[in-house]
Amino acid sequence: MFKSASLRLTVWYLTILMTVSIIFSLALFVTSSREVDRNLRRVPFPVYDFVQPYTSGQGFADYRDQRIKAIQGSLVIDLLIFNLVVLLTGGAVSYALARRTLQPIEDALEAQSRFTADASHELRTPLAALRSEIEVALRGKKLSEKEARELLASNLEEVQKLEALAGGLLLLAQVGDQPSTTTRAVPVEAILAEAVKRLKREASAHKIEVTITAPKDLKVRGDEASLTELMIILLDNAIKYGKSATTVQLRAKSQGGRVIIEVQDEGAGIATKDLPHIFDRFYRVDSSRSKNTASGYGLGLAIARQITDRHDGQLTVHSKLGGGTTFTVSLPQVANK
Ligand code: ADP
Repeated sequence: MFKSASLRLTVWYLTILMTVSIIFSLALFVTSSREVDRNLRRVPFPVYDFVQPYTSGQGFADYRDQRIKAIQGSLVIDLLIFNLVVLLTGGAVSYALARRTLQPIEDALEAQSRFTADASHELRTPLAALRSEIEVALRGKKLSEKEARELLASNLEEVQKLEALAGGLLLLAQVGDQPSTTTRAVPVEAILAEAVKRLKREASAHKIEVTITAPKDLKVRGDEASLTELMIILLDNAIKYGKSATTVQLRAKSQGGRVIIEVQDEGAGIATKDLPHIFDRFYRVDSSRSKNTASGYGLGLAIARQITDRHDGQLTVHSKLGGGTTFTVSLPQVANK
């Protein structure tokens, strides 16, 4: 599809280029022939020429017309060669330009279709589980109330997974479209406190203590809801992949006109080979801890990175297997008046 689009764009570029070149050549031909004609006709009739003696004015006039025609003929050949060169080099340059113009669109489309394929694949797993559970239940002759309850509870679990996945996908799409004009000065301590409040239950279920260290007047420029979402994602991971009876620290400080927020856990850490991929959509570290115990679809960090990018920020990670993980967010600071 993109090959034919590139060729079509090349034809358009080349048409414009050749139109300009032909108009230029015609103009050059007309003015040059007129100039040659005028200059040669200005020459007076010589009684004797070194090349050929003229016995009459008519002989000279014929010779002069031949000269004008010869000059015009060589001008036409020169202009034809020039246009041929323009056509060949212009064609190559136009094709290269067309490919360059369409490349970002091709990349975006490819990423989009990869994303759709991944999302469909993830959606199919809980749907398949739901379907097989219901089919098995329907095949049985009688369903006791206890069995029916168990089936519904299991179905509900799958529905919750689907809901979480749909929520993640929607958030990813929304963050991508969100205009960056909804920004204002947001107190860092408030967003950290809000994230802790929302994940209080999860933290106590994992017996994890969460501490906040942030100066009261520290503010970042951004969208409060998105920044809270960002902190929730990082804290949720720190709890999910953290070790029971440990502490997760949320620290914020000002550094060179930026706000640095760190989320540090004492969990199992991430292997060096996985670190470059954890921000990719649907990427989950292939460990029994990640895939079997902790819920998730590998969308959290992709959303987190999208939010930081939208805020002119950076999200980095420092981790060692068995040595805990620290995610660091750097955001533009709002100066205090
Ligand atoms: P999810 O948590 O839904 O799997 P994420 O995109 O949030 O997806 O994270 C991607 C992967 O990175 C996780 O599956 C997990 O293996 C790893 N990861 C993220 N945060 C941590 C952390 N704090 N400690 C250890 N591993 C982590």
